[in-house]
Amino acid sequence: MRWTVASDVDGTLTGDRTSLDRLAARFRQRRAAGDVYLIVSTGRRLEQVIGGILEEGLPEPDAVICQVGTEIYLPPFTKGSRPMEAWRARLAEQYRRDEALSFLAGIDGLVMQPDQYNTELKTSCYLDECPKPDEAAQVVRDRVRVHADRYQVVWSSGRDLDLLPAASGKGKAIRFLVEHVGLDPDRVVVAGDTGNDASMFLEFGKGIVVANAQPELLELAQSLGAHRVYRAGQRYAAGVEEGLEHYGVLDGAAPAR
Ligand SMILES: [Mg+2]
Repeated sequence: MRWTVASDVDGTLTGDRTSLDRLAARFRQRRAAGDVYLIVSTGRRLEQVIGGILEEGLPEPDAVICQVGTEIYLPPFTKGSRPMEAWRARLAEQYRRDEALSFLAGIDGLVMQPDQYNTELKTSCYLDECPKPDEAAQVVRDRVRVHADRYQVVWSSGRDLDLLPAASGKGKAIRFLVEHVGLDPDRVVVAGDTGNDASMFLEFGKGIVVANAQPELLELAQSLGAHRVYRAGQRYAAGVEEGLEHYGVLDGAAPAR
């Protein structure tokens, strides 16, 4: 039976090339048999995902979700690829970049992320040079609260803060794609390592948290419970592979045709 696997890239697939090579070979096999639809869901830009496929051993995906769920790409993946317009238009309705920037005003130590990570639908900064990063993130959350119908705050790794459209995020982007492609939502397995992956675990009932995950995601895994989130004993791609074996994703027989 066909599974959908949606995995984060950095710290989830990457981190140990040997185990990534092994996992990528198994993905190749399952995808060739038509058993797995692979979604890569990342904070990276598309060019960096393509670079990762060419140079870092990332498996070839069926779809790519970039910039923390604000852009969705379908093949062929090229440097000139445009994100899916239906998704972009839906998010653009609720998001104004100048308003998003106003939520970040006057925070001591805040540094904007490079322009490539700031788009019409994503406003991103670093808070790790703030005197108290967690408190600074809370200030932004408090400011956004009354606008929660249009904006959301994603806080990751004690460093990265993203202001996204409320309807976006990795989890909702995967849901949109699952409906668009006609995949079975009950056979989606998600994998991640930090807070920007949290929305995937909230959206779908089968998750894998790798052993090197950040505390914020381990806390979420704890609260969702072992029936929804498998906590791998291994790190990086080896942890993803362990979780996929737990759910029986990699060893399924090819479907009858
Ligand atoms: Mg990550």
